[in-house]
Amino acid sequence: MPEGWTRRAALTPADGASEELWELWEDERVVAAAPVRARYGKPLDVMAFRGIDAAAHRRAALDLCRAAAALHDGEADAGPCPCCEGAGDVERLASVAGVDYVRCRRCGHGYVPRPPIEALARRFAASEEIAAVYTDPDTAAVRMEQVVAPKLAWALEAAERSLGRPPASLLDIGAGAGHMVAGARRRGLRAEGYELNRHCCSFARERLGVELRHGDVLEARSGGERFDLVTLWGVLEYVPDPTRLVARAREFLAPGGTMVVEVPRVDSISTAVQRELPQFVARHLDPASHLNAFSDASIATVLWRSGLVPSEAWYFGMDAFELASQLALHGELSEELCRATLGLQPDLDRARLADDLVIAATGAAA
Ligand SMILES: [Zn+2]
Repeated sequence: MPEGWTRRAALTPADGASEELWELWEDERVVAAAPVRARYGKPLDVMAFRGIDAAAHRRAALDLCRAAAALHDGEADAGPCPCCEGAGDVERLASVAGVDYVRCRRCGHGYVPRPPIEALARRFAASEEIAAVYTDPDTAAVRMEQVVAPKLAWALEAAERSLGRPPASLLDIGAGAGHMVAGARRRGLRAEGYELNRHCCSFARERLGVELRHGDVLEARSGGERFDLVTLWGVLEYVPDPTRLVARAREFLAPGGTMVVEVPRVDSISTAVQRELPQFVARHLDPASHLNAFSDASIATVLWRSGLVPSEAWYFGMDAFELASQLALHGELSEELCRATLGLQPDLDRARLADDLVIAATGAAA
């Protein structure tokens, strides 16, 4: 009998969408059975969005090394798993910028030693470099159209299926430059967002007319305020204690509401590529900001511990982009080879080897 989370799925790879069954096993019995509506792949014109630029990649990787050295003490122990509270029974996953990612043998979670809390707070509250990804005017239109709009639409549909009516309100935790909040308001929702980074908050106010709540949601009072949809897009990888943040976010969820979390997936081609070629890493296994890389089981565990079970999952990634970028760094990449490499992504998404996962989760049945 298995122990922990399992996934049942059709043997024939699905094209676009399918039904999965996620089950949690404890003491040889199933304690949670969650039918999960799954989607595979997301169109993204990665060349319009980022392009492959070996020189820029190399610079970003060197910046990452410097930031990682400032954040981490090379001697620190990884400690217990932040997702399943496993006692720290880990194996080494990859070493990037002098920092070891380890993997929990119990839930598969990938993580680095927790840096000092003050160093983390300094890094996120004021960093222009972190804000720059979200506030770059050159990619703002593509970000809104190809990143924010499809994710928002997916989340709204998932919430509507669970509520039985369109959601009326949204809280975005780690709201970045406010694009998600702005998009939700445009669709008529009451939408609010929390964001730590002051540059992001300024951008949201000045460019999108959105006043985000500047500060840490862990320290905010919910005051009984509830939302139909609570989202954490690419946030849980940054925090030392993702379980605590999800539990906090759960307090804002209205009865019958949906929580949506997006996390980087450890079981992906990007992870494998960076494990084999760790010299120039500029995203994904980034120990200067990504303290966590989730297994499907580790994020399911985090949600479960807050009384939530997955209802929908969306697998997609930038693994092919990662591979093409690494090939370009290690030699000339012809246009033909670049195009062929980027063409692999839909297959990786369908095979669940993609580096990104969005999960919608709802309250577990009593
Ligand atoms: Zn674990």
